Amino acid sequence: MKNIKLAALQNKKRTVIQVGNVKFGKDFVVIAGPCSVEGEEQTLEIAFAVKEAGAHMIRGGAFKPRTSPYAFQGLGLKGLKILEKVREKTGLSVVSEVLDIRDVSWMCEYIDVLQIGARNMQNFSLLKEVGKKNTPVLLKRGMYSTLSEWLNCAEYILNEGNPNVILCERGIRTFETYTRNTLDLSAVSAIKELTHLPIIVDPAHGTGRASLILPMSLAAVASGADGLIVEVHNNPEVALSDKDQALTPKQFSEMAKKVRALRTFMENLN
Ligand code: PEP
Ligand code: MN
Repeated sequence: MKNIKLAALQNKKRTVIQVGNVKFGKDFVVIAGPCSVEGEEQTLEIAFAVKEAGAHMIRGGAFKPRTSPYAFQGLGLKGLKILEKVREKTGLSVVSEVLDIRDVSWMCEYIDVLQIGARNMQNFSLLKEVGKKNTPVLLKRGMYSTLSEWLNCAEYILNEGNPNVILCERGIRTFETYTRNTLDLSAVSAIKELTHLPIIVDPAHGTGRASLILPMSLAAVASGADGLIVEVHNNPEVALSDKDQALTPKQFSEMAKKVRALRTFMENLN
């Protein structure tokens, strides 16, 4: 693939990125949590529940990229302080989205992995800024992006010196409207041919439907993904964002069990 140098697999070893006590690219990493951090009690309750169910990390947006300026925009610094407390109390590592180049440095103090969302995949100044840090970056695929465009964005980060890039397939926009996006699982296998970077799958944004998260999570395991990021809410009906695609803690726990079983089966196949 043209101009993909640092990210290209070629003869390089596969990248392993350690966050807390899990290794992306080696372990099957499960990240779970609310779309948005809505409050301390809510986030703590979800965090303890997903930890109990076997999640390795918690997710939660403090800065939300919303389609409407009138929709909940996230709690900002307050949300990050909540995530810091959640990390302290549960021992779970934290991933949260950075929207703005001005927030990169100080956000690194509060969280373990910086998420760059689909809408910012090609925000080149943001990519360069996170590339100057050592904090791992979860780079989501843009909703209209080819694999080449996506890997070029990873290349921007690597080229600035940050080797810790984790890719995330989160669905692309097609003519289909039943699902929020079309989860492109062929991308996972293709990415494995093209790059040494780990790749995880987001079946929540990939489908927009809670009922499709379990089957697509299992399919993600079968496709060779290195992990999953899933939205979980203690009371999905009243979630301030993405309520239709959030699992309850109980649903998540059942899903996590099946995911582990399939992963073990897959490992024994190899
Ligand atoms: C999110 O993770 O809540 C999010 C906004 O994801 P994406 O950028 O994939 O839409
Ligand atoms: Mn969301």
